[in-house]
Amino acid sequence: MRQGQIQKLIEQALFPSCLWFSLLARFARLGIPIEERNNIERSTAQAFINSLPPTHAFQLLRSWSHSWLKTCRLHDVNRLPCLFGCLAKDEEAHYFNCPIVWLHVVQISGFHPGESCFQRLALNCRIPDVINLCLVSHAFHVIRANSLGAIRGNVISQRFGENHKLWLRAATAAFARYGGLEVRPISLV
Ligand SMILES: [Zn+2]
Repeated sequence: MRQGQIQKLIEQALFPSCLWFSLLARFARLGIPIEERNNIERSTAQAFINSLPPTHAFQLLRSWSHSWLKTCRLHDVNRLPCLFGCLAKDEEAHYFNCPIVWLHVVQISGFHPGESCFQRLALNCRIPDVINLCLVSHAFHVIRANSLGAIRGNVISQRFGENHKLWLRAATAAFARYGGLEVRPISLV
């Protein structure tokens, strides 16, 4: 069997069509327009994910698969609004558009976040967008895991700025883990 055929078999095992179709459905739920979804190549996305360190790949797949923790998903009777003071719901699709979350990302990473959900999810396979997404995703889950009680209290008492401070601290600390990714074109073979 030729090397190319072996590579194809490995790719199919690691990234089967059924998983890819599932991800495409998740992209739709995250608000990616159909014309942008149609431009995403499975092989390109797979090669890109494979080129990343596991820490970064995990945050991307967690986001691409619509797997963030949020009260709507957990069927919590006490569903929360956006933790940072928007009137939007506590939903993953919102956090990729939340103006408060993304406002200060550039101050931590040094990279301006993209305008669109497609860019913020790093579906363009750009390293600066990967770093920004990792910071946002990691910080979001750290504060939910470590400070959910305080976060709920801040929402109820409308002290949203306190939640934003928690998020900023977590994102700043996360830069040491995610920020060192080299900014260079990645070979997509
Ligand atoms: Zn918001």
